[in-house]
Amino acid sequence: MAVEYLLATEEQREFAELTGSICEKELAPRIEELEKANDGRGQYPMDQHKKLAEAGICGLNIPEAWGGMGMGYVSRGLIYEEMSKTDIGFAFSQRGATEKGDFVLDSHLPDAEKKQWIDGILAGDVVGAFAHTEPNAGSDANNIFTTAVKDGDEWVINGSKCFITNAPIADFYKVVAVTDKEKGPKGGISAFFVERDRLGVSPGLPEMKMGLKLSPTSTVSFEDVRVPEDHLIGKLGWAMKGEGGNAAMWAGSRPYLIAFAVGAAQRAVDICKKYSKERVTFKKRIVDHQAVGFQIADMQMRVDMVRNMVYTNLEAADRGIDIGRYSPGCKAVGAEVCQQVAWDAIQVLGGYGYMKEYGLEKIARDCRIFSIFDGSSEIMREIVRRQISR
Ligand SMILES: Cc1cc2nc3c(=O)[nH]c(=O)nc-3n(C[C@H](O)[C@H](O)[C@H](O)COP(=O)(O)OP(=O)(O)OC[C@H]3O[C@@H](n4cnc5c(N)ncnc54)[C@H](O)[C@@H]3O)c2cc1C
Repeated sequence: MAVEYLLATEEQREFAELTGSICEKELAPRIEELEKANDGRGQYPMDQHKKLAEAGICGLNIPEAWGGMGMGYVSRGLIYEEMSKTDIGFAFSQRGATEKGDFVLDSHLPDAEKKQWIDGILAGDVVGAFAHTEPNAGSDANNIFTTAVKDGDEWVINGSKCFITNAPIADFYKVVAVTDKEKGPKGGISAFFVERDRLGVSPGLPEMKMGLKLSPTSTVSFEDVRVPEDHLIGKLGWAMKGEGGNAAMWAGSRPYLIAFAVGAAQRAVDICKKYSKERVTFKKRIVDHQAVGFQIADMQMRVDMVRNMVYTNLEAADRGIDIGRYSPGCKAVGAEVCQQVAWDAIQVLGGYGYMKEYGLEKIARDCRIFSIFDGSSEIMREIVRRQISR
């Protein structure tokens, strides 16, 4: 499998293709077994995570000064596009687990402690998670009930989070909590670095999901969890403005996620291309029936269009250009196009497309998530509606 983004540099190509080949060789043969593990809840392969760390594919955004590579969005997007060709769930959790170094670095922990956490992430020994969503606060992200109350020189955290990627396997969480109810999102919501082994932290069992089986998702609750003052991430009260984390990440994260969708959709198109040249009906390869050939051509054109949109956004984010005007559209349209491609691919293979063994039903199940998490398509449209109605 090759990198298809025209403007990728030689170095970007090599790194991304190396990632793809490791995943294809080592992870692909195990996916069925990993999806079935834990009574169908699935399992995240920590051994594979560790192997990628050994190849340097871990914590890619960690700055060089802290021992990382400080990679930009385009380079990382290409790597995760390739990883997602093998398994989106694995790619999503691996990225989520290891790109949380900025939570550590934006905290007020002493440098020696930060270094221990960062070294652990880079070695593939430490996993992070971002805990914001609550039962009544998904799209309505400001409506959280979790609180952090100051008691002497400690914060006491109480509340419950749900749908948290990597919660069952995380060693630390970035927990978003209300610190000043009056101020609400305008200076009253903060983020905290919370280690899993603190008294009162209880992650739940992995949820039974329709897809992303290699990505463990669960609840995590915090009952009178005490953390020292230096566990605040960023500036007190400003977590909702991207100041409780890396502001650049805030800007680029949505198009970045769609690079994963592009990888999976491209995989679906590739399966169709191969199959349609082998399958013969009415004495013709099915790709030579114009209806089928056009179907695949349409799929490829749509994936190419989304890929170009994604990397234009990511290139701009890397250059520090504000992409707020374009990123919601990239997320919504990119997610919907890639989902449709994954769904359409099943048609190209006919009855075989409906069978698990050809891998397309899995891609369709996995791709369904992209228009839901990290800001649903409806919320993306709402952001654009507000922009155009000003
Ligand atoms: C697999 C998975 C992994 C996740 N990982 C994480 C994670 O790591 N950390 C984390 O904090 N969260 C995570 N989430 C949560 C995710 O971000 C939320 O599920 C998402 O934001 C939607 O929120 P909700 O589920 O509460 O749906 P709701 O907000 O209840 O929305 C329900 C429906 O109403 C629509 N809707 C809501 N409000 C509006 C509006 N104003 N206008 C138009 N339509 C609207 C929505 O688009 C949706 O279709 C994850 C979710 C999943 C499924």
